[in-house]
Amino acid sequence: MPTPTPKAEAHSAAPDTASPWSGGWHSGAVHLPSPNFGPRPAGAVTDLVVVHSISLPPGAYGGTAVQELFTNALDWDAHPYYQSIRGLQVSAHFFVRRDGTVWQFVDCDQRAWHAGASWYRGRPQCNDDSIGIELEGLEGGTFEPAQYAALARLCTDLAKRYPLAHVAGHEHIAPDRKADPGCGFDWVRLQKILGWDASRFPPIP
Ligand SMILES: [Zn+2]
Repeated sequence: MPTPTPKAEAHSAAPDTASPWSGGWHSGAVHLPSPNFGPRPAGAVTDLVVVHSISLPPGAYGGTAVQELFTNALDWDAHPYYQSIRGLQVSAHFFVRRDGTVWQFVDCDQRAWHAGASWYRGRPQCNDDSIGIELEGLEGGTFEPAQYAALARLCTDLAKRYPLAHVAGHEHIAPDRKADPGCGFDWVRLQKILGWDASRFPPIP
């Protein structure tokens, strides 16, 4: 979260019953709507959070390239790495910066384009019924305490609106294609912050 001003702090002291949601938009996030989304299938039960890692170019933090990618505004010629993703149209519901600031691109009631071909908890096409959360970072690298705190807060708030039953990495839902967030992400740490049963997380190796 951004450093709160005293006024913002007073606002956050509102009763716990105040909903953090306006439709499928979270009030604690910076909203930057992406055109890359569609409707969820009728009857979809959104019960999964998919954790990803991303930075553009890889290892560069604090810029605007991820936001530009998710809104089809990235200048593909701005960095040699972008040739490898040229024309990609993707999105996630959320992006959590290294300092814990949260950006939101897609209404959580809608289907974002983050998972690709995937399978988890006995169901295919995880974009249909999951929430995608990208952590600013490098696949296999470590993540900041502020990112765990922001991710846990998002999961807690998402669970108030959706019947969340599972949290998994992109690497767990598409193991043949994807390896993010990778071995530097501490699943036990997230589980302990949330206080949710271990059965809701990927098996710890
Ligand atoms: Zn991913």
